Amino acid sequence: MADGVVRAFLPRSQHTLSVAVVTAAAREARHCHGLKTGSSVVLAEAMAGAILLASLQKDTVRINLQVECDGPLRGLLVDAGSDGSVRGYVKNQYLEALGAPGPFRFRAVLGNTGYLSVLRDRGDGEPYRSSVELQALSLEGDLNRYFAVSDQVDTKLALSVCELPGEPLGVVAGALLQVLPGGDVDALRSAGEGLQASLTALLARDPGASAESLVLALAAESGEVTVRQEVAYRCSCSKERVLSLLRAMGRAELEGLIAEQHGAAVTCQFCGRRHQATEAELRAMLDEPQ
Ligand SMILES: [Zn+2]
Repeated sequence: MADGVVRAFLPRSQHTLSVAVVTAAAREARHCHGLKTGSSVVLAEAMAGAILLASLQKDTVRINLQVECDGPLRGLLVDAGSDGSVRGYVKNQYLEALGAPGPFRFRAVLGNTGYLSVLRDRGDGEPYRSSVELQALSLEGDLNRYFAVSDQVDTKLALSVCELPGEPLGVVAGALLQVLPGGDVDALRSAGEGLQASLTALLARDPGASAESLVLALAAESGEVTVRQEVAYRCSCSKERVLSLLRAMGRAELEGLIAEQHGAAVTCQFCGRRHQATEAELRAMLDEPQ
């Protein structure tokens, strides 16, 4: 089943409900970075969360979901676009396992303190950042705190990574319920409480379910699909971008790279691709008019 994000409008309660399925993208991230299971599950959840955040925006935006923490994971960054592209990395790819199931499951990797921040970039040069301290010490719990603290809109988010035999990233999905102005807040709160359990039950019953069928199954009323977007792990890095970064460095740094390394190699943190600039290319930059 293909990854995607689908959003539906629920007219009776005046809610919107989005579901993202990011299974293939999460497995691609695991492959790119050689992630062990524990690391891959946390990044998978963050990818589902970031895609849901990006899907909420009316404009074309990029969302950066960042976590810094004192646990062995140390942190992560996911970059997701409203075009369905997503990429990300964790600071420690070698974590084998999470904690025992239960509310403290993620403490084994996230630790006890840290923060979660969301950067929203519309591409107009004025990105907007908002942060919360980690308190729940789970991505789902702290993303819900982020909505409560930073957003003026009642929102409930659920994240689920369902294991299948031999595949820890069996299905990776998230759901997000949000009330529209004048909508039924009480209904949102009661539907929100069971959202994670309902999502997980649906995934367990039908691991191949599409985002669209999940939205319709989760909705407490008949809804109208308003957004359908494919999701894929995509990285926008390129040699041209690396060259323009190098060009922005000072003359002394460029001369240093030429003298010491006879070129420059930059490995992309998001996809692991290695971009190489030759000594001749660096020398050409030095000759460019300032
Ligand atoms: Zn890349």
